[in-house]
Amino acid sequence: MRLGALEAGGTKMVCAIGNEHGEIEKQISLPTETPKITLPKLADFFRENQIEALGIGCFGPVDLNRNSPTYGYITTTPKLAWQNCSMAGYFQKELHIPVGFDTDVNGSALGEATWGASQGLENSMYITIGTGVGAGFIVNGKLVHGMLHPEAGHMLLKPHPKETYEGKCPFHKNCLEGMAAGPAIEARWGKKGAELADRDEVWELEAYYIGQALANYIMVLSPQKIILGGGVMHQKQLLPLIHKEVKAQLAGYIVTRELEDIEHYIVLPALKDNQGIMGALKLAVDSRK
Ligand code: ADP
Ligand code: ZN
Repeated sequence: MRLGALEAGGTKMVCAIGNEHGEIEKQISLPTETPKITLPKLADFFRENQIEALGIGCFGPVDLNRNSPTYGYITTTPKLAWQNCSMAGYFQKELHIPVGFDTDVNGSALGEATWGASQGLENSMYITIGTGVGAGFIVNGKLVHGMLHPEAGHMLLKPHPKETYEGKCPFHKNCLEGMAAGPAIEARWGKKGAELADRDEVWELEAYYIGQALANYIMVLSPQKIILGGGVMHQKQLLPLIHKEVKAQLAGYIVTRELEDIEHYIVLPALKDNQGIMGALKLAVDSRK
């Protein structure tokens, strides 16, 4: 089966042609300009490749409520040209094929659960620590949607006892994203994360916030695997610090086989940087059901 996958991001659009086995035969990337300029180019690409279904993992917030008149829209994004833009509906109208639609981070969670680190598990989560922080959860084999979709990157956290930085989130200041996303690191320390590799205090504080959030997700949803992606996780020293911090925050209260082997419980993406586009491919597969 020939399927299309679109990972729609705020800076670039990654498009792929693949099949139901997760094999990608062709991939291109276009800059995200305005919908008027960008959407027809994407539709042309998918039309030329004669796909049978399309899956879209999209930056958000998006409307995932199938009963809503704005289902498949990007809603209140700070990228103004894309506010109230119909994505799923646009491609359905242009291509006349089934279109699967979800958030970008739900796409990544689905990609990893189908072909990556959480394959075969009924309960898992994927979290990206990048320009923003976002998380997708799979519970009992299904992506969690709910009222809107989880916005777990904005989880409210206890500040570190020695904290002096107020936080960068325009809504909450010191939520997880406000304290730990790439731009927060840069604002707090005056340099980009990639240039702070040798500063232990940077990564200890980073692990404090991420570890605290993960402990909370563990206590609420009990995932069987946690996958950490995004640019900030390219810091190799960070993951072991997060392992330590999660254990410290849980304080021995939860005892499981998974937590005893935490190096295999909280892991980096197995699909390297393809979890998003492969998740979109799986959304295309599922759109035909
Ligand atoms: P996005 O979230 O925009 O999709 P990324 O996941 O690549 O993109 O995240 C970009 C953020 O990650 C930026 O804030 C950048 O400073 C940070 N980042 C990228 N590479 C590194 C690195 N090696 N170490 C620390 N931070 C990094
Ligand atoms: Zn916030």
